[in-house]
Amino acid sequence: MIKVHVKKGDTVEVLSGKDKGKRGKVLKVFPSNGKILVDSVNVVKRHTKPRPPKIPQGGILEKTLPLYASRVMLVCPQCSKKTRIFKKILEAGDRIKICQQCGKEIR
Ligand SMILES: [Zn+2]
Repeated sequence: MIKVHVKKGDTVEVLSGKDKGKRGKVLKVFPSNGKILVDSVNVVKRHTKPRPPKIPQGGILEKTLPLYASRVMLVCPQCSKKTRIFKKILEAGDRIKICQQCGKEIR
């Protein structure tokens, strides 16, 4: 298991590769290999031969592939900047996540 710094539903920005600068929502996290699936990021086109009955026409299919979580940064839902988070422990013992950019709590 690899610790992934983002979770399902987070918005992230891609830091490298052909999708650099793109933002999307995390659809799925794969802790076994540290990869994540991000909405409309790392989309590849596959030329497919007709394969009835599922793909009777063949042609170009678009597929979203998982990418390494280390290639993305979390986007803060409050200030919409790329950010890192730090954890703060409240007096009551609750842990909250704080955005390093705007200092607001991220849920
Ligand atoms: Zn922020």
